[in-house]
Amino acid sequence: MTLPEVRAAIRDVPDFPKPGIVFKDITPVLADPGLFDQAVDCFCRRFGADGLDLVAGIEARGFLFAAPLALRLGIGLVPLRKAGKLPHRVVTECYALEYGEATLDMHADAIRPGQRVLVLDDLLATGGTAAAACRLVERQGGVIAGAAFLVELGFLDGRRLLGNRPVFAPIRFDR
Ligand code: AMP
Repeated sequence: MTLPEVRAAIRDVPDFPKPGIVFKDITPVLADPGLFDQAVDCFCRRFGADGLDLVAGIEARGFLFAAPLALRLGIGLVPLRKAGKLPHRVVTECYALEYGEATLDMHADAIRPGQRVLVLDDLLATGGTAAAACRLVERQGGVIAGAAFLVELGFLDGRRLLGNRPVFAPIRFDR
């Protein structure tokens, strides 16, 4: 099994943020520098030799892994943010969530055509968020080198929405 200690630290919070949702709380991983390091290192090992130009981190928990990864790989970080948070000119994609609807913004000049981009988030659920992130990158001419997540909820089949893009998730829960 990949990252067994990190997996064991992830905490289930039932009925958050809505009844019926079991929220996978990764804050115990962040609180332990050894576990946090294992998580970031896992992304580093998988993508370190992939010739990435940028990591695109998804607000908010994606930022927590994207920032240390970008520094370790010596590449730039592009924040993908919820509606109305970015100050400069943006491109926008709408998507459906496991619990609601949302919009993701990216600065229109964040990516140059042909740049290889890793989209990163803490968790893959239905895939709507990550698919919107990939569309933003691709609309600006970026190439999706991969979509990476610490955790995948396998029973929601989020990979389907990501199509042929390479998906990496070291920790998978099947219920
Ligand atoms: P989705 O678009 O359905 O793949 O949802 C993924 C996004 O919502 C990620 O940014 C996750 O942080 C968050 N998310 C969705 N479901 C959960 C869950 N059960 N536990 C923790 N985060 C979740």
